[in-house]
Amino acid sequence: MRRQRDEQRLNSGAISNPKDLESLQRELAALDRRIATLEDEELVVMEDLEQAQAVLADVMHDVDEVEAALRQARETRDAALAEIEQDVSVATLDRGALVERVPGDLLGLYDKLRAQYGAGAGALRARRCEACRLELNGADLREIAAAPDDEVVRCPECSRILVRTSESGL
Ligand SMILES: [Zn+2]
Repeated sequence: MRRQRDEQRLNSGAISNPKDLESLQRELAALDRRIATLEDEELVVMEDLEQAQAVLADVMHDVDEVEAALRQARETRDAALAEIEQDVSVATLDRGALVERVPGDLLGLYDKLRAQYGAGAGALRARRCEACRLELNGADLREIAAAPDDEVVRCPECSRILVRTSESGL
């Protein structure tokens, strides 16, 4: 604006004083230098902006990827939860059917042990109680082997109900 005004004054021939003319030309030259500097700075700013936009695009792409992975993980979790809930309801139905066939006192003992230890019974497999993982000694095994089939035997190590199987090693 100022440069245009100065140039119009210069070209109009209205200034006849050589000193005024010279100072006007100096001012014009200074304004041209200032404009060149500002244009250079503008270029640098434009380059910086371009780089920043490229970085932003990369970050947005990463964010998209992370969000997609998160969505996938949530879907996997939800599917696993649905499967577990299904298993739990099947197991609950199975337990309900089994409980009806278990004598009341045995069920009471089992529930008491389960509340106390987290598991009320363990299978006796290969001379080992699967509830506490300890191997039974010969005397205990002989005593268990001699017990009638309908007698409830307990693990001498952890006190849980021992379930005798064909793989007990008796
Ligand atoms: Zn045990």
